[in-house]
Amino acid sequence: MAEHHLKSVERISCLIAEVAASQRPYVEKCCSVCAAPCCLRVRYVYSSSDIRFLKLAGKKRKWSGSAFLKGGCWFLGPSGCTVEPVSRPLLCHTYLCNELKEMMHREDPALLPELMSKFTKISMLQRRLGCVMGNDGYGYQTLP
Ligand code: SF4
Ligand code: SF4
Repeated sequence: MAEHHLKSVERISCLIAEVAASQRPYVEKCCSVCAAPCCLRVRYVYSSSDIRFLKLAGKKRKWSGSAFLKGGCWFLGPSGCTVEPVSRPLLCHTYLCNELKEMMHREDPALLPELMSKFTKISMLQRRLGCVMGNDGYGYQTLP
């Protein structure tokens, strides 16, 4: 892999670890009591950007098409998400429902702007990897 791609992959991995860690306390409080968890309202899919990044990062394949067959995310286990944070679709990190955002804003007003800035950086780095951004048929779909 080209040196600049390797650096981008490492930086994306670090940023994802950071956003996951800073969200964790809020997710634990808010999502654990959620009446309608978003993970149960999506069809599991990865974007082509996620797949490209994960392939370059040498991650184990998680993006099997068979997961499309089940309503809700294939990877939701009894204690939450069973996928390590860096291997989750980026949307799992960037999707913040209103309840989660409100809790974050109340408890740490600096957190949301910091997260948004990191999400932007991750997207920019993914583009640098030559990724196709957006929903190109592999994106998450909210169930009706
Ligand atoms: S992000 Fe929001 S909708 Fe999703 S599980 Fe957490 S509280 Fe529920
Ligand atoms: S990969 Fe994990 S966080 Fe993402 S929708 Fe599935 S269970 Fe939820």
